[in-house]
Amino acid sequence: FSANDYLRQHIRTVPDWPAPGVQFRDITPLLQNPKVFRVMIDAFVHRYMDDGMRPDVVAGLDARGFILGAVLAYELNVGFVPIRKKGKLPFTTVEETYELEYGSATVELHSDAVRPGDKVLLVDDLIATGGTMMAGKKLLEKLGAQVMEGAAIVDLPELGGSERLRAAGLPLFTLVAFD
Ligand code: 5GP
Repeated sequence: FSANDYLRQHIRTVPDWPAPGVQFRDITPLLQNPKVFRVMIDAFVHRYMDDGMRPDVVAGLDARGFILGAVLAYELNVGFVPIRKKGKLPFTTVEETYELEYGSATVELHSDAVRPGDKVLLVDDLIATGGTMMAGKKLLEKLGAQVMEGAAIVDLPELGGSERLRAAGLPLFTLVAFD
């Protein structure tokens, strides 16, 4: 009985949300239970505490990536930077637009969030098509940072996102996969 099976049991599947036919993987039960929350965070801390894997900065993707990303950065004693949906960040930004199933989305990062050569860990709650994480990677690279790895709680491998991200040169670390 692995930690991953334990975590899986605390992810709720909500059918037909936010649209008919979508099975939404809801991580809020996992956050709500302090024991489960700790097991989840510790799995990431354990991996990134090692000298060779320690990032200079953790970047979190809007909005559930902030929860894991901020706690992880605090535990690793490194800084946290938010990648936000367009129009939320007050200072000068770089931006990246990417395609969604219907329409497009734009994400932003403060232009002084990372420095050239910084080793950045990019964090979100879940990887579906991989579009969000790919946009985050591009933003960080615009500022000259090196995205060492992408980390998420859940991967949906059937949507092909994790495969695309790895093919684009981004190593990934995820805890739970759902078909
Ligand atoms: P992608 O860009 O990889 O297609 O979608 C991933 C993004 O959408 C992440 O920021 C994630 O929070 C959100 N997302 C898409 N589907 C789900 C889902 O089933 N559960 C959760 N928790 N987030 C999802």
